[in-house]
Amino acid sequence: MQVLKFGGTSVGNAKAIAQTVFVVAEQAARDPHTVVVTSAMSGVTDLLIDSARAAEAGDRQRYRDARQTLLGRHHDVAEAFVGDLDELNRLGGEIDERVREFERLCMAVAILGELTDRGLAVISGLGERLLAPILAAALRARGLRAEFVDAGELIVTDDNFASAAPQMEATRAATRARLLPLLEQEIIPVVTGFVAATPNGIPTVLGRGGSDYSGALLGAALDADEIQIWTDVDGVLTADPRIVPDARSLPELSYNEAAELAYFGAKVLHPKTMLPAIDRGIPISVRNTFNPAFPGTRVVARTSNGGAVKALTVIRGLTLVTVAGRGMMGVPGIAARTFAAVAAQGASVLMISQASSEQSICFVLPEGDTARVAAGLEEAFSVEIRRRLIDRVTCESDIVIVAVVGEGMKGTPGIAARLFSALGEHGLNVIAVAQGSSESNISLALAAADADAAVRYIHDAFNLAGKGNCNTQYPMLNTHSAAPAATKGMSLRGA
Ligand code: ADP
Ligand code: ASP
Ligand code: MG
Repeated sequence: MQVLKFGGTSVGNAKAIAQTVFVVAEQAARDPHTVVVTSAMSGVTDLLIDSARAAEAGDRQRYRDARQTLLGRHHDVAEAFVGDLDELNRLGGEIDERVREFERLCMAVAILGELTDRGLAVISGLGERLLAPILAAALRARGLRAEFVDAGELIVTDDNFASAAPQMEATRAATRARLLPLLEQEIIPVVTGFVAATPNGIPTVLGRGGSDYSGALLGAALDADEIQIWTDVDGVLTADPRIVPDARSLPELSYNEAAELAYFGAKVLHPKTMLPAIDRGIPISVRNTFNPAFPGTRVVARTSNGGAVKALTVIRGLTLVTVAGRGMMGVPGIAARTFAAVAAQGASVLMISQASSEQSICFVLPEGDTARVAAGLEEAFSVEIRRRLIDRVTCESDIVIVAVVGEGMKGTPGIAARLFSALGEHGLNVIAVAQGSSESNISLALAAADADAAVRYIHDAFNLAGKGNCNTQYPMLNTHSAAPAATKGMSLRGA
């Protein structure tokens, strides 16, 4: 049994859908027990969300324009694949009804002047609900047995509507009850990615890019042999190809490495995708819909191939918050109080670094959370601030984290030094650094303006493009290097 997930570009227009149909046919010939999970057409989820937000602000024109785009794009592809007139009429009716639903919801948002997370979840999930029935029809037109299934019937979540957390047991039971009878008849279920529902059937979504997670959840629920993520690049690459044009596809990654890359911004996989797969040890393949002969990347529990540094990624739109002051030294509980104050704001911290003198703690978090967190910290430490034991909490915006990932870094000396040399030689300043105790990730906080250059220099320094020597055997650093050796959690402000 296998689950095949197709991303937005794989279903973005008739030509792409034809390619997706080809891949499904080929895969189903290999294993007739195949489940297809699909995203919305590329750009559709953005359009739905933009329209809803504009409606909230009183702009009704935006959703009226979007209505035309949605009708045009979906009817076009339906007509391109479905020759049978009855089926085309039925499908056209479904498309019209979904788009009317979109319009009614946006109108309600405009009247109320308020867009709740619950409302946004319904609207943002319409793209998958529009496209999946069309893909099912396109597969049938190709002679395959396929049936549309709404993931609201399969994936059961909590009511954190915009980024809902699945309830695994309920999801497993619902998925098996609904999909196994189809699979037994060798019917391919074509399931909406991204969307889910609470136990009461209220629509939720799994967070932006969440269709990968949907694929993995269904794969785990069905004890699939493989989860395939079909996208528009040749697998997980050594870096974002938009930054590093000669980034190379990695044949193999561990779950841990893939999760680190995804968490730190490699868009190719949703960060939670690996979780259900790890639980059941299911391999994830990342493959190119437009180059199906290429094997892509296999994500598994343990990898055999070396390479100290495998890949790097960058996450943008961050702020560095520093809590500093002489009064912090030797005072127990400062870190606990700091992060309790951060947690109270529901913010998640991406990186933490503390100076060994204990005079400062700095951490990095998403820009949008900064104001709340800073206010929360000033309140938590109001007494210390008044007594001047702690200086004000400072926030530095326009920060990025460049994460360097590879399990082989563990026990390979000189990685950090090589990293700092690569940046130092080009005059790029590292603001803070942290290394996880797993040693499979070194995170560097840098100014946003330096991000792309840093990624390119590091990619070159470790020869990740694989020109000539491979980085498994890179020579030890020369001893003249001015770069400091990294210690865990060392703060390098001004280094
Ligand atoms: P899909 O619509 O198939 O889900 P996404 O746009 O979500 O595709 O993810 C694929 C894109 O991720 C690629 O086109 C590429 O631009 C980007 N990307 C960023 N980092 C990486 C990386 N390390 N490896 C591969 N792709 C990456
Ligand atoms: N369509 C959704 C999004 O754009 C989910 C996905 O593509 O994975 O976020
Ligand atoms: Mg995606």
